[in-house]
Amino acid sequence: MKPKEITEFSQSALLITWEDGHESVYAYEELREVCPCAACNTDGKREEKPKSGFRRIPLRVSRANVTSKRIEDVGSYAIRFYWSDGHDTGIYTFDFLRSMCSCNDCMPEAG
Ligand SMILES: [Zn+2]
Ligand SMILES: [Zn+2]
Repeated sequence: MKPKEITEFSQSALLITWEDGHESVYAYEELREVCPCAACNTDGKREEKPKSGFRRIPLRVSRANVTSKRIEDVGSYAIRFYWSDGHDTGIYTFDFLRSMCSCNDCMPEAG
């Protein structure tokens, strides 16, 4: 499945119209949050706790109000966002984006 059209839905959200006519709206904040790049997914790479002394302070990136400055095509299977916080290494495949659609059709309320 590929997007037919990718447009700005609002200042903080993106609208993707798919080949099959399905429309998906994604908040930039949400997209930034699920960034699939290695830097944003350090799970499984457990860091050892320091034995004593200094405490590691987790780096907190504020993803609120983050917007996309630019969207670039990656081949014919994905897009890449240039976020307003300077991050730009996440490649979002169309499959991934489609699977993220949270509309009522794609995510029927499960009892
Ligand atoms: Zn990332
Ligand atoms: Zn949907």
